[in-house]
Amino acid sequence: MVAVGCMAERYGKELAEALPEADGVLGFDDYADISNRLQTILSGGNVEAHTPRDRRKLLPLSPVERQEAAATVALPGHGTVDAPENVPSDLPEGLAPASGPRAPLRRRLDTSPVASVKLASGCDRRCSFCAIPSFRGSFVSRRPSDVLNETRWLAEQGVKEVMLVSENNTSYGKDLGDIRLLETLLPELAAVDGIERVRVSYLQPAEMRPGLIDVLTSTEKVVPYFDLSFQHSAPDVLRAMRRFGDTDRFLELLETIRSKAPTAGARSNFIVGFPGETEADFAELERFITHARLDAIGVFGYSDEDGTEAATYENKLDQDVVDERLAHLSRLAEELTAQRAEERIGETLEVLVESESDDEDEAGGWIGRAAHQAPETDGQVLLLTTDGGAAPELAPGRMVRAKVVGTEGVDLVAECLFEEAGR
Ligand code: SF4
Repeated sequence: MVAVGCMAERYGKELAEALPEADGVLGFDDYADISNRLQTILSGGNVEAHTPRDRRKLLPLSPVERQEAAATVALPGHGTVDAPENVPSDLPEGLAPASGPRAPLRRRLDTSPVASVKLASGCDRRCSFCAIPSFRGSFVSRRPSDVLNETRWLAEQGVKEVMLVSENNTSYGKDLGDIRLLETLLPELAAVDGIERVRVSYLQPAEMRPGLIDVLTSTEKVVPYFDLSFQHSAPDVLRAMRRFGDTDRFLELLETIRSKAPTAGARSNFIVGFPGETEADFAELERFITHARLDAIGVFGYSDEDGTEAATYENKLDQDVVDERLAHLSRLAEELTAQRAEERIGETLEVLVESESDDEDEAGGWIGRAAHQAPETDGQVLLLTTDGGAAPELAPGRMVRAKVVGTEGVDLVAECLFEEAGR
C-alpha cells in the first residue's frame, strides 16, 4: 500500500511514521519516475519518504518568469513526455494523445462520458485558513495547446463533457502573459469535435471579470455554471480570511450573471465559526445565502490547518459554537437548495445521460446531469421515459431534452422530450 496525493506531499516523512502499514509515501517529486519507485517497493525495497518543503519557493515570484522554470519542477497533472520513446513501457495504450512532442501522460480508468482536464496548478492567493499553496506551489498554467490536445483525445475516447479543474481557474493565463486566456480558450475547447459540454470549476469571486462572465454565459456548449467559493459574506470575517467582498457585492455578482443567463447554475462553499466570527457576522452570512438562490452549497466548520495564518489567531470560537453554527447553516442550506430546485420545475433542460439508476424504486430509470449540475458535488436529474415505447434508447453519453416535473431535495425529476438535444 502506497500513499500518494496532497496529504502524502504535505506530510511526507511524518505521514510515513504515522502510517506504518503503508509500504511507501511518495511526494510529487517522485511522480516522474513513479514506475521505478513502485517497482522498488514491490521488490521489497525501501523508498525513503521526503521531507516536505514550501513548494511556492520552487518557482520565481513573478508569474511570467515561471513557465521556463516550471519545466524543472514536478507539477502533477501537467505531466508530459518529450518523445514517444520515453513513454513508460508499462503504459502501452490509452496515452493521450499519441501525436505531438508534449503528449500528456493519461490513461482513462472508466468509460464515463465526463472527464476532468487540468488547467493549472497551485495558487498565488493567501487565504489565511488555507494550506494548499504551501504544498501545491505557485500558480502555473498549462499551455493552451496541451489542454486542447488532451480534450481532443478525450473526445476520441467518447467523452462528451470536460470539466476544467485547478485551484483557481480565473487566474488561467496570467503566467503566460494573458490574464484573459480563458476567454479565448473556452470557445476553442467547445469547438472540439464530439465535445458537447465544457464546464469550468472553481472560480475566484475576487477575480471575476465582465469578459469572462460574457464568455461563460454566451458560448455554445460552454455551460453557464458558476462555482464561486465565497467562503463567507461578512466583511470583517472576509478580511480576516484575507479575502475580499461583502454580501451586497456578491449578490450583485450573481445578479449580473443571471441577467445574462437566467437559469445559470451557481454553487458555493462556506466556512462557519471562523476565528472572531460574531453572531452578527453569522447572521450576515445567513442573509447572503437566503438571497443568493444557490443550487448547491457546501458548509464547513472552521478547524485549524497546520502552518496557516488563521491557526495562529487568538480569537478562536469554542468548538460547541462552531458545531452549532455548522448544524444550523447546513440545515438552512439544505432547505434553500431544495427550494431552488423547486424553482426549476417547468424548465426544459439539456441532460447528459450518465448511468442507469441503481435505486430499486426507479428500476429502468436513467440518471443524468443538466448544465447547472457539476459531477459529484451537485444534484442530478432522474429521467422519466413515460412515453410508453416511443422513447429513444437512453445510454450514457446521450444528450436529451427533458422537462422538470418534480424534485427530490436538490435532485430534479424530469420527463424526456424524446428528441436529441439540439445536435
Ligand atoms: S482557498 Fe483557494 S484561493 Fe484561497 S489560498 Fe486556498 S486554494 Fe488559493
